[in-house]
Amino acid sequence: MKMPRRAFLGSSMAAVSAGPLLAANRKPAKSKSGKGGSREAETKAKPPLVISTWPFGKPANDRTLEVFRSGKTGLDAVEQGVRLAEADLSNPSVGLGGIPAAHGVVQLDACIMSGPGHRAGSVAAVEGFSHPVSIARRVMEETRHVMLVGEGAQRFARERKFEEGPAVTPGQKAAWENWKKAQEAEKAKAPNHDTIALLLLTPAGDIFGACSTSGWGYKIPGRVGDSPIIGGGLYVDNTVGGAGATGIGENVMRYCGSFLVVEFMRQGMSPAEACLATLHRIAAIDPKGYDLSINFIALDKRGRFGAAGTGQGFQYSVACDDYSKVLQSPGVTQKPVGPLGGNRL
Ligand code: ASP
Repeated sequence: MKMPRRAFLGSSMAAVSAGPLLAANRKPAKSKSGKGGSREAETKAKPPLVISTWPFGKPANDRTLEVFRSGKTGLDAVEQGVRLAEADLSNPSVGLGGIPAAHGVVQLDACIMSGPGHRAGSVAAVEGFSHPVSIARRVMEETRHVMLVGEGAQRFARERKFEEGPAVTPGQKAAWENWKKAQEAEKAKAPNHDTIALLLLTPAGDIFGACSTSGWGYKIPGRVGDSPIIGGGLYVDNTVGGAGATGIGENVMRYCGSFLVVEFMRQGMSPAEACLATLHRIAAIDPKGYDLSINFIALDKRGRFGAAGTGQGFQYSVACDDYSKVLQSPGVTQKPVGPLGGNRL
């Protein structure tokens, strides 16, 4: 018996707020304890499925699905989705609208991965170009390298006539000057920072990912975060799944965070469990414990998805079929009792 999808999604959302159910999976499987309510049933969707970080990932997800449905490749779709976020100059965390580095110029980091062929491209500390994710794609497709940085990446982009934009706008300059003054008076607050990490699972079972950020606001020029680091801010393994990160990059890249999420999925965890296990693993090692400001999203080949973050968790966006929503991830502040305990993993 088939339920109309909208009605079906509506009823399941009310119950779990975690994500759309896959029609074939809507009967909750019985757990070993016999109490029922399988976690898998709450977070599985029919591909094409897109998941991304933060509420600003929602329009990027929609664009990704739109491009994919128009007959373009999964790689085109994730690139275009992330380009949408990069083009939004009101976003202070992604693209040339981002907060500048300490020298007053915006420096962008981005990467892209194709599950098929296990290919990757990446750029870091790029100044003056609107779409670092597209430059990263060209690095992947036209060179034998994976990553270009700074002046070399800019020369590469200039030669290929990538769209250039202002390295800093008058508004960014004014904010930067205020920050400078506060810094000199030792009153500067840590500015906000976010990233778009976006993953697509196609109906053929292929996974693509892309990631883009202006990084930590007022960072030391040349600082590179986790976002363009393959295995740090993004990782895709076409046999297992994909993961992406947002938050303080230094706390992700020291642990190969996204790689670790995918490896936990390889060991049999669901995406949600793998995100949680990664947080617990990192917190078990890190002197700061759970005070890390890091968050992960993940999806696997079966169409399961999930997310988790330290502290209160974070918001992430999911889209499939005619469903597109911002969801709240679980947050973790302490080591759990039970199978996800940090030391055991
Ligand atoms: N992970 C990014 C970075 O460290 C920033 C963020 O996602 O908040 O550059």
